[in-house]
Amino acid sequence: MRTVRLHAKRWPLSGAIAAVGIAIAAGPAGAEELAPERIYLNARVWTGDAAQPAAEAFAVRGDRFVEVGSIPAIKALADGATEIVDLGGRRVVPGFNDAHWHLPARKDLRLDNAGSVAVVQQRLREHARTLPEGSWVTGRGWMPSDFPERTAHKRYLDEILPDRPVFIRDRDGHQALANDRALQLAGVTRDTPDPADGIIVRDPSGEPTGLLKESAASLVRDLLPPLTPDDEYQMLLGELAAAASFGLTSLQDATEGGLNELERGAVERAIAEGRLTVRYRSAAAFEEQPDPGQLDRYVAACEAARSRLHACGFVKLILDGTVDAKTAVMIEPYVGGGNGLSFVSQQQLDRAVAAYDRAGLQVQIHAIGDGAIRMSLDAFERAARANRTRGRRHRLEHVEVPALADLPRFGQLGVIASTQAIGARPDANMLENYAPLLGPERSARAYAFRLFDDAGAVQAFGSDYPVYPMDPLLGIYTAVTRQGGEDMPAGGWYPQNRLGVEAALAHYTRDAAFAEFAEQEKGTISAGKYADFVVMSRDILAIPSAEQRQTRVLLTVMGGRETFRATGE
Ligand SMILES: [Zn+2]
Repeated sequence: MRTVRLHAKRWPLSGAIAAVGIAIAAGPAGAEELAPERIYLNARVWTGDAAQPAAEAFAVRGDRFVEVGSIPAIKALADGATEIVDLGGRRVVPGFNDAHWHLPARKDLRLDNAGSVAVVQQRLREHARTLPEGSWVTGRGWMPSDFPERTAHKRYLDEILPDRPVFIRDRDGHQALANDRALQLAGVTRDTPDPADGIIVRDPSGEPTGLLKESAASLVRDLLPPLTPDDEYQMLLGELAAAASFGLTSLQDATEGGLNELERGAVERAIAEGRLTVRYRSAAAFEEQPDPGQLDRYVAACEAARSRLHACGFVKLILDGTVDAKTAVMIEPYVGGGNGLSFVSQQQLDRAVAAYDRAGLQVQIHAIGDGAIRMSLDAFERAARANRTRGRRHRLEHVEVPALADLPRFGQLGVIASTQAIGARPDANMLENYAPLLGPERSARAYAFRLFDDAGAVQAFGSDYPVYPMDPLLGIYTAVTRQGGEDMPAGGWYPQNRLGVEAALAHYTRDAAFAEFAEQEKGTISAGKYADFVVMSRDILAIPSAEQRQTRVLLTVMGGRETFRATGE
């Protein structure tokens, strides 16, 4: 019997993870007869499993938990070959599952939390110096509040980089700012009409200001040079390593249309090389008028290809925009006017949702404004009634500003609220742009996670990375405190909407697994499920919320194998 301390040993990754990429599941059957390969003792385990909420030890064989319980009970399972890991009384939770995540399209300069146009310009200038002469300068993460009068304009880019094309997307990716050079290359002039579902913002004289909303951004974006397969693969590996370092063991890629050919190739290569260190889920392409035969074939192919590391079986549709771009569809106008922009009519939505529902596919609809949320709930309700289906677990993504009257419908219809915990962070943009656009009545029900829990809905947490950082501990901190960086505002932004730590943990683990039909396989620390878990530096269930921001992930294990270990502990 060998005993190792938490940080005493590094297990090799590659061979082990390649082995769990095989599609045939070896269940927990026969678990009693063989000793576990590894037992973890002296832990404070929050299992997420109502049948056994807490434990102090657990045993792992292959990629599964085989037993969870007391130290003596788990010790009794070991034989001479079993490795024993002493977790030193640390808090252990199930591996985090990000229910709404995106593989970034490229490695952009981050412009987050710039706070002023001067900082945006400085970062762009410094970044541009590192790039080949004349090449595109791209970035992401600005907010309207970074610009004077909350109005982004190409002049701020032309001032610093007049000779090379610049294209920077806002944090949410629903609007972009291009400089004059980029507009010229794209052939966008005062005579260019707005594309369908997009707006080329113009000044009073009719001249484009450089701000491109929704589909108008693709007029410029389509010109960006494509990545090579190897760039894509390296980028994927970088994202996977980051995810593991934050305790993530599952990612649900919410990108509409699913993985493109390049991305699919990178994911498949990572599986083949044993380097896919998270369980990945991706979408099928959404079509407004899906062909039933094609859908049946897709569902069958998806089931056949389903592996422990890659799943499919849903479609994603973007119905409206964002509050910050004033493109989220609202029942009542924004303060200052406008009701937003819906990309699909109710009739089209009803027809498409019904077709996917009939074929057995889960539908995820990006719906942010109360108007878009109501349209989606109506479509789900009509589809279930027409098709006589139950248990489809259709999802609303973001669901930022639901009408109070619609909340009970989530539970009644079995619709999942897929929300972004960190979105409730009351940063400058939230306080100066987002909330004023909604006004006080709607701000009080914005990012109000508590409302979904109280209404009996299943709520899954995600980050919407790269919109927000993917760190689940930061998301949990935000959901629990509704405070920003300096613990401001005191007491939290609309504190009646705060959640408890356990509720936030459940939304990031068990409920996120339910939201992808995987609750039998993962999401709690229970015998028979995948051994996906996280060891934390502090016990977030026992410390004051202000100290939660110092909590870090020490160890991430996915399928029984280490995918991240903190150094220097
Ligand atoms: Zn998203």
